[in-house]
Amino acid sequence: MRLINEFDLVVVGAGIAGLTAATQASAQGQRVCVLEKSAGPGGRMATRNKPDGSWDHGAQYFTARTPEFRAQVQQWLDEGLVAPWREPLAVWDGEQLSVSRSRERYVGVPKMKSPLVNVAEKLIIFYNTQVTQVRVENGSWVIDTHASQWRAKKIIIALPAPQTQALLAHDCEAYALASAALMEPCWALMLEVARPLQLPFAAAFVNEGVLSWLAHNNSKPERTVGEHYVLHATAEWSRAHVEASTEWVQAAMVEEFKRLLTLWLPGEILPAIQPRHVHRWRFARATKHEPAIVAAWPEQGLALAGDWLAGGRVEGAYCSGRAAANALLLHNTNSAVECGLS
Ligand SMILES: Cc1cc2nc3c(=O)[nH]c(=O)nc-3n(C[C@H](O)[C@H](O)[C@H](O)COP(=O)(O)OP(=O)(O)OC[C@H]3O[C@@H](n4cnc5c(N)ncnc54)[C@H](O)[C@@H]3O)c2cc1C
Repeated sequence: MRLINEFDLVVVGAGIAGLTAATQASAQGQRVCVLEKSAGPGGRMATRNKPDGSWDHGAQYFTARTPEFRAQVQQWLDEGLVAPWREPLAVWDGEQLSVSRSRERYVGVPKMKSPLVNVAEKLIIFYNTQVTQVRVENGSWVIDTHASQWRAKKIIIALPAPQTQALLAHDCEAYALASAALMEPCWALMLEVARPLQLPFAAAFVNEGVLSWLAHNNSKPERTVGEHYVLHATAEWSRAHVEASTEWVQAAMVEEFKRLLTLWLPGEILPAIQPRHVHRWRFARATKHEPAIVAAWPEQGLALAGDWLAGGRVEGAYCSGRAAANALLLHNTNSAVECGLS
């Protein structure tokens, strides 16, 4: 027999948007639970931990512009869960490298997901729990998973747009909104080089070829010693090869890395490059999104949150989660303006 679990609010997704929404609602006295399909929190603020090393293979760093997120980041800094990442970054345009350290960038320590692991510890979260459908029955939300059923007066869906769409009935406004958003894939390669590379920067935005970004993971604070690099392919290349085998993708990305190193380190013999892991982010970034911060129907007890509504980055996802809780619990639908992201 299926278990039925009752809460005031069910949040679907334990990325930064869902965890922020759940924290905000709990602080307002709601009985909240979070349902997460993976084995842990963090979503795309992810770290791959393996015996052969550790790599932040999703979000690389974050910035903090809004008063709300600045206050949150300050709290994480005080708690030692986040640190500034002040290493030089380069931009490669195909001919020239421009290196700078201009912007304030932050990372979780010792892993990108560390602040979210800390937030998650204070919440009721059911992991390995994939929501398959949400619907209204007798004035309550019914949330189905493979094994159990949850009921709640209110629900916040904090997932990438295509995964949000997949849960909703086709005839509702929320479904139409999620369907209109476009999210692009990203292939990520995690590798190790046999000896340090003498590059004058720790990471680079690449505006030519297959890659869009590469970073020396161990240049981030409190990472273990090692020569671990993360490479991201462009959205166009990832889309074109989204169904390619991981072996093929790995080989193509390593070749591209070597090509760039040969340009950046002319005359040097390159160290051995050992590809370790490949990850396909099917819904990495929103390319077309509503600049709404949150989409809420307080009278129906429904809100959608996530980066796709709020600029496609960590800070936007945080603001979106906060705004979703406020919209449902305080009927405050003006959160976009308050969060300063509008
Ligand atoms: C390769 C890459 C690089 C990036 N680089 C940066 C960067 O440098 N700076 C920056 O600010 N942002 C960056 N981003 C974007 C940033 O990671 C996201 O904006 C942010 O993490 C999104 O948070 P979220 O909570 O909206 O969604 P997610 O983090 O995607 O959280 C959604 C959660 O829902 C879970 N889930 C999905 N479906 C279900 C279901 N049916 N039932 C239950 N749970 C489900 C997922 O497992 C996940 O944990 C990057 C993203 C990627 C992929």
